[in-house]
Amino acid sequence: MNVESEAFIPVNEPLLTGNEKRYLNECIDSGWISSEGPFVDKFEQLFAERVNRKHAIAVSNGSVALDAAIVALGIGEGDEVILPAFTIISCAAAIVRAGATPVLVDSDPVTWNMDVEQIEEKITLNTKAIMAVHIYGLPVDMKPLLKLAERHGLTVIEDAAEMHGQTYNGNPCGSFGDISTFSFYPNKHITTGEGGMIVTDDDHLAERCRSLRNLCFVPEQRFVHHELGWNFRFTNLQAAVGLAQLERLDEFVTLKRKMGNQYTDYLAGTNGIALPLQHTSYARNIYWVYGIVLDESLGVDAKWFMQQLQTRGIGNRPFFWPMHEQPVFKKMGLFGGEHYPVAERLARQGFYIPSGLSLQPVQIQRCAEVTLDILDELSLR
Ligand SMILES: *Cc1c(COP(=O)(O)O)cnc(C)c1O
Repeated sequence: MNVESEAFIPVNEPLLTGNEKRYLNECIDSGWISSEGPFVDKFEQLFAERVNRKHAIAVSNGSVALDAAIVALGIGEGDEVILPAFTIISCAAAIVRAGATPVLVDSDPVTWNMDVEQIEEKITLNTKAIMAVHIYGLPVDMKPLLKLAERHGLTVIEDAAEMHGQTYNGNPCGSFGDISTFSFYPNKHITTGEGGMIVTDDDHLAERCRSLRNLCFVPEQRFVHHELGWNFRFTNLQAAVGLAQLERLDEFVTLKRKMGNQYTDYLAGTNGIALPLQHTSYARNIYWVYGIVLDESLGVDAKWFMQQLQTRGIGNRPFFWPMHEQPVFKKMGLFGGEHYPVAERLARQGFYIPSGLSLQPVQIQRCAEVTLDILDELSLR
């Protein structure tokens, strides 16, 4: 192998080789660089169409998209929202910041998504909503979740940050429930650097989100406010990149699937590791990241394995750390004594290897080979 192919392989590098520069130049040449500017409307419109929604509201990132969605829905003090223990902090943070209480369910051990069967037992008189978070490339089993929500009169928030271009039973992720959110962080399937989107079919919710995004200005009297909002605005520069990325979404999803399948071809059948499912009855994996979960029988945890990968030039990241084990929430007195064994195991034994859109087949091969080498050496100990 030549020296270049031995260089460190970063965990993510985005692919920005389409019209990004062209559209950015249009921003610079025209002077439209703030949230005013033609690309923002256009990006929102095309994004809404793509996920079969009436409205799309672009915001600064995927975390604040959740903040605005929760507040727009009127969720607050005394309300409970059910969500997976195994997710990013942004989901629970949005609920807590709004003054509501997050209520957790464990993950399905095979899909790593929230176990929909555990939701019903968590419903109380105070339950207001279910937050479905699609994890790592496969969607949550939405049909039973939506049925349950309907039966109990609950709102559904769909965090589709990792699901650009994914479908559930043929319908786009981001089209389910009352309101859905996306992120455009550089490791997502399409990126705007930082950025996020809220989508909904509800005119009132859309209006609320637009207002919350922009400090709750009212048109009648500027600088007089009846409510506190935020500056969550999205710039024309971000939208320029987003438009160029959106043009290539199908291509990116195909590429990600190819990369995921290539990894699985190398790694399938290896003792001691669990790999992402290639498909379920309702979706084919789009491999937001390529995760690996180590069997406890190997006698090592993800932390040890990630160190080995790092030393051998392979970028990596740990899995999410469950919400009930977050020091910040413990300090608030949340989730005391609760246990979610699947989420706890995923957090300790799971990690992901390079999965960005710029990753080349020879790099995938090297990442897989190094992973197999480490496992081989382990079996000899
Ligand atoms: C990335 C991500 C977010 C947060 O998005 P940011 O743009 O990084 O704030 C929220 N939810 C999920 C599931 C994510 O993967």
